[in-house]
Amino acid sequence: MTDKIEEPEGPVLYHLDETCDLDDVEVGHAYSGYVNGVADYGVFVSLNDSISGLVHESNLASPLEVGEDVKVRVEEIRDDGNLSLTPVHMHDYDEVYIGEHDGEEPTRTPVGEVIEGDEVIVEAEILSVRQTAGPTLFTLADGTGNIECAAFVGAGERAYPEAEEGDAVRVRGEVETREGDLQLEADTLELLEDEDAQEVRDRLSDALDERAEPPELEPLVDSDRLRALYPRLRRVARGIRRAVMKDRPVVVRHHADADGMASGVAVERAVFSLFEEIVDDPEARYHRFNRMPSRAPFYEMEDVTRDLNYALKDVERHGHPKPVVLMLDNGSTEDDADAYRTLDAYNIPVYVVDHHSPDDEIESLVQEHVNPYLEGGDYSLTSGMLCVELARLIEPSVEDDLLHVPAVAGKGDHSEASEMEAYVELAREQGYDEEHIDDVADALDYESYQLKYDDGRHIINHILDVEENDAHEELVPHLKSLAEEAFERQMDAARAHVDEVDLPNGATLCTLDVENYTHKFTFPGPGKTTGRVHDGKVEDHDGGVVTVGYGPDFCVIRAEGVGINIPDIVEELQEEIEGAGVDGGGHLVVGSIKFVQGRRDDVLETLYSKIAEAPVGTEQG
Ligand code: MN
Repeated sequence: MTDKIEEPEGPVLYHLDETCDLDDVEVGHAYSGYVNGVADYGVFVSLNDSISGLVHESNLASPLEVGEDVKVRVEEIRDDGNLSLTPVHMHDYDEVYIGEHDGEEPTRTPVGEVIEGDEVIVEAEILSVRQTAGPTLFTLADGTGNIECAAFVGAGERAYPEAEEGDAVRVRGEVETREGDLQLEADTLELLEDEDAQEVRDRLSDALDERAEPPELEPLVDSDRLRALYPRLRRVARGIRRAVMKDRPVVVRHHADADGMASGVAVERAVFSLFEEIVDDPEARYHRFNRMPSRAPFYEMEDVTRDLNYALKDVERHGHPKPVVLMLDNGSTEDDADAYRTLDAYNIPVYVVDHHSPDDEIESLVQEHVNPYLEGGDYSLTSGMLCVELARLIEPSVEDDLLHVPAVAGKGDHSEASEMEAYVELAREQGYDEEHIDDVADALDYESYQLKYDDGRHIINHILDVEENDAHEELVPHLKSLAEEAFERQMDAARAHVDEVDLPNGATLCTLDVENYTHKFTFPGPGKTTGRVHDGKVEDHDGGVVTVGYGPDFCVIRAEGVGINIPDIVEELQEEIEGAGVDGGGHLVVGSIKFVQGRRDDVLETLYSKIAEAPVGTEQG
């Protein structure tokens, strides 16, 4: 390397690449270097992998740390090849690159194009930082891909402590393979500022926008109501795709019943497929995804506190970015607002896909709210149907495994949607007859109860038949019969205790004390038990039927052919009965109400009088 390039006029900072040797070093010139060792008498500074020198302690104005970038002037080249250096402070200088790419800055390599063995310069955003027992690991993204970058200053010692999550950096180093994955071994890592940093961020953001764009798809079944929800579903899909590409963990909370499980599983399959196909990190399913059923029909403070606690620990322990939260078959009600505000304090975005009657406030508290009620639909379009459509938009390749799932979800929620027939037909085309779909929904409901707070990933996948398995054929009828036996046992106990009253409006009111006359803490719980009693009564009567199953401080309501509106009734009870602590809601004709035990009689009496005034023969939604 003897040809010297034309000298600029002002001060110049020289960069030496790996091809440079001592012949390229000139006394009096300023060079970019980094600290590679600290001793009592000074610090060692490398100008590249093979050239280094000493800054004597007497020339150090402030202590330097290993890994730190530093500008130095060469004072002397000793006979033994060692350099004597002094730190320099420079302003308004030109930069000149010496070596393979004489004079010009070596070109940046897109992360997606790096190849093992290459010496590269990568400009990217730091997605996360993790300190290992060896090097510090930075996950870098530039929109063309993600790569892990290792920087080593000492075992277990944090390299480049100034570089943090969200910073834009320029890294020079060599691409190697570690445990089958490409890794960039950093020689230098430089924080970018101002326009340089903005350029990197813009490039990443533009690329992510493009890559995160969901495919153009039509709904699986012909439906204007679904089509009307598609723009919202697309925005959720875009948000999830973007989150996965930026290594953000995904937390899924869903209702613990067949529709909720179907919703959660559909999205889980799609996100796992993204991990494999798009970000090439199949292991991410173990540390970047968490799906949990919620027992309550809303995001309880207990649940959100737990989720937040784990997320913040992962930020600390594993350097994970903060997660995004998805609420499925859950999350549309007033009761969810406190949880969302708690997450908002940490800027954790929430996406909701639900079909429970929505509270107006929710839309402003979450990133996106998908709910049929917001586009002229109702609860008959279930979350599981919406989530299979969502799963296709997140990752279209999962579609083939999920074609029978909307029908299962619909059966689980007793959907009478016009779309249901088409979804059942779709399932039939996959070899699932309607009776089997029904059994799968019942088996799912039963197993959801047994799982309590667990996701039950594989068992649920086997029941739903979305994962290769031999168990499905035997498991579904088995669980279905267990569920039926449990229902029979519950009905045997309850039947004699159902009170039936003819109301002045012509409706029949059936009531059951579920606390004293049903088996507790076992499947089916009070909600499903009341539902089963109700279904029987509807068959016995031609007119409208309302069934109320009550416990000490709650009641469950089911109505058929009577125009009640449970969320409205809850509001009225709150106003009319002081000190009863009334709360609750749900769908218009399927829901539950909570109250304080001491005011139960007042609440139930008032509730019954409202049912007696409701229009019969009509049903709102
Ligand atoms: Mn549902």
